[in-house]
This record gives sequence, structure tokens and C-alpha cells, in this order.
Amino acid sequence: MLKRDFLKNSLLTVVGALVSPAVLAAAHEEKLLREARATPMADGPFTLPDLPYAFNALEPHIDARTMEIHHDAHHKGYVSKLNAAVMGTPAEKMSLAQLLASMNKQPEAIRNNAGGHWNHSFFWQIMAPKGGGQPTGNLATAITKDFGSFDKFSEEFTKAASGRFGSGWAWLIVDKKSGKLMVTSTPNQDNPLMDLPGMQRGIPVLGLDVWEHAYYLKHQNKRPDYIKEFWSVVNWSEANSRYDEARKG
Ligand code: MN
Repeated sequence: MLKRDFLKNSLLTVVGALVSPAVLAAAHEEKLLREARATPMADGPFTLPDLPYAFNALEPHIDARTMEIHHDAHHKGYVSKLNAAVMGTPAEKMSLAQLLASMNKQPEAIRNNAGGHWNHSFFWQIMAPKGGGQPTGNLATAITKDFGSFDKFSEEFTKAASGRFGSGWAWLIVDKKSGKLMVTSTPNQDNPLMDLPGMQRGIPVLGLDVWEHAYYLKHQNKRPDYIKEFWSVVNWSEANSRYDEARKG
């Protein structure tokens, strides 16, 4: 190696070590947020729901900056791209529920963005300030019945969330046929309401976003730390209502 190249390579190594992946990721997320703020939502039938609490309401478990970027950049992006994908097509007249239930007939852009919109709208609801603790109501009884205990359930859910390779979601669902609770996971923005081949279908009661954008700013690549924090913000009262609704329908 020429001395000049050696010096250049050494310098790059030093700079690379100084600018950590976490710093680069933070800069990337900040840029996403600036761009999202500067870009108007594409016209169409779908709108971005407000967060049901302040960005900092889930602190110290989920940090305000992550919530802000997650909602205002990522979720907004899914809604905007979904609008762009349905406009001028028959899907323009369909509800989000109808789109999910006919996903095997929809193009990739609708699959990713309808999923992204539904999943995030659900995710904001299923967390709450002063959440966590133990489940309540009929859901508590059913968890004990179908998993043996709350601890066994949380262990299985944690395993599904940490074991999902790459980006995706972990779910607690009500199986439509048996009425039983089940733990499952999906890749990307798929969810158990979609009629896709191989999908473990059911009605979501709890869901956890395990995309890196959901935890990287605070936890870097340590997904298990984020999953642990999730248990402190679960909105069990909302999950219980969803369970009751699922059993009725
Ligand atoms: Mn997300």
C-alpha cells in the first residue's frame, strides 16, 4: 500500500470511529422529520390521526423525540403514500378495513402503506402514560386460560418481538375460528387482518412495532431493551376493550 493511501485509510478509520452509527442515525431521523414537515400530505381519503397524548407522555420509557419522529414523519409518510397509491383507482372508495381484508388483490404500495397506517394508528392507542402492570377484565382471564399465566404470555410475546428478523410487528390476536388468544408476528407492515397467503389471521388486541425507527434513537440496536420498556406503557384497558369487541364480532 502506498504511504498516501495508508494515511488516507487510517484517517477514514478514525473519522468513522468518531461518528458513531447512533449519531448518524439521529441525523438521518432529524432530516426525515424536517422533510416530513416541509412536505404536504398527498390528497386522498386518509388522514393522520393525532397522537392521543403528548410526545413526551410515555417518558421515560419511550422518549419524546422518537415519538415525534415516529408519528410526524413515519406515520405521516404511510398516510401520504397510501393516499397517493389509491387516488384514481377503485381502492379510493374503500375503507382501511376493506383494503386490509382484500390485500391479496392490492398492489405492493397499498399493502405497505395501508398496513403502516393501520398498524401505527393502533399502536398509539395501545400505549398510554401510566400504562403497564397487569391486564384487566375478560382479557386477563383469557390470557391465563390460553397461555397458562401472564408471565408465560409475556415471555411468548417477547420472544415473537425479539425473534422477528428485520422489520416487523409482534401481535397478540384473537383467532377468529377458535376465539382463542394467540401470539404471532408479521414482517414489514403486514398485519393479521390481511388476507395474505400464510398469514395467521386474527383480530389484534396488542401490537408492538419492532422496526428500528421505533427504538434506535434511545436504544440503538438493542431491541430487547425497548421491548422491556414497552411493558411499562401498555394500555391494558384499551387492549381489554379490543378483546371484548373481537369476541363480540
Ligand atoms: Mn413504526
